Amino acid sequence: MDLGLSGKSAIVCAASKGLGRACALALAREGVALVITGRNAEALKTTAAEIRAATGATVQIAPGDITTPEGRAAALKLLPAPDILVNNAGGPPPGDFRDFSDQMWHDALNANMLTPIAMIRAVLDGMIAQKFGRIVNITSASVKSPIPNIGLSNGARAGLTGFVAGLARQVASHNVTINNMLPGPFDTDRLRATAAKQAASAGISIDDFIARRAAQNPAGRVGTPEEFGAACAFLCSAHAGFIVGQNLLLDGGAFNATLG
Ligand code: NAP
Repeated sequence: MDLGLSGKSAIVCAASKGLGRACALALAREGVALVITGRNAEALKTTAAEIRAATGATVQIAPGDITTPEGRAAALKLLPAPDILVNNAGGPPPGDFRDFSDQMWHDALNANMLTPIAMIRAVLDGMIAQKFGRIVNITSASVKSPIPNIGLSNGARAGLTGFVAGLARQVASHNVTINNMLPGPFDTDRLRATAAKQAASAGISIDDFIARRAAQNPAGRVGTPEEFGAACAFLCSAHAGFIVGQNLLLDGGAFNATLG
C-alpha cells in the first residue's frame, strides 16, 4: 500500500534507538524527510547515517534533551512546520511510590506529559494551516492497565492521554489527527533495562526473564521495533485521517478484554 507520505516531513523525537528509531525508519521508507532527536549526538549521527543508507531519505539531526526548551527549539528550528510529529522520550524510573520525590514527579510529568504538549502546541497551527497533520504520541500500555512499579509512568502518561482526547477532536476537521501508540513489551534497550532488576531479584538472566515474559504473552513473544514502526507509519498515512484520538495498544493481546 502506498501510504501517500512521499514528500512529507516529520520530527521524530527520541529516535536514536528503540521505538523512536523504528518510527523514523518506517517513515523514511515512505519518502518522509526527517528531523530526529536524541541526547547522545554520536548515537544520533550513526542512526541518521543508517536511515539515510537504508532509505535514501533526508535525515537531519537535532541533538539535545527533548524535555528542555532548548532541545525542542533545536528540532523546531530545523523543521518549524512538519507534516508529522512523533512524540517520544525516555520513560520514568520504576520504584515504590513512597520513594518518589516531588522532583521525580515533576521530571516524569515534564518528560511524558508537558514535553509532548509543548511540541504539539508548537506545530499544530502550521498543520491546521496546511490542512494535513499527523501527530503520534508514544505512551505505554500502562495507560490502559497500570503497572504497579512504574507509578510515575502510569500517572504522567494518563495526563497526556486525557489532554489529547479532548484536543484531537478539536482539530480533526482540519485533517490533523492526534493518536497515541501504547507499547506493551517491545525488544528494545528500555525493555532490557527494566527487565534487569526483576531478573536479578528472580535470580535469572535478563534473556531468561524476557523469555518467560514472552511465553506468558498470547502472541508467545515480545514485539519487534519494526512492527511498531510500521503501525506508526500507517497512523501517519494519508489513509488515516478518520482515526482520531485513539489509543492503539500494541501488546500481543496481553491486555485481556472483550472490548479494547
Ligand atoms: P530505548 O530503546 O531506551 O530508546 C530511547 C530513545 O530515546 C533513545 O534514542 C534515547 O537516546 C532517546 N531519549 C531518551 N530520553 C530522551 C530525551 N530526554 N531527549 C531526547 N531523546 C531521549 O527506549 P524504547 O523502548 O524505545 O522506549 C521509548 C518509549 O516507549 C519510552 O518512553 C518507554 O518508556 C516507552 N515504552 C517502551 C516499552 C518497551 O517495551 N520498549 C514499553 C512501554 C513503554 P539518548 O539516550 O541518546 O537521549
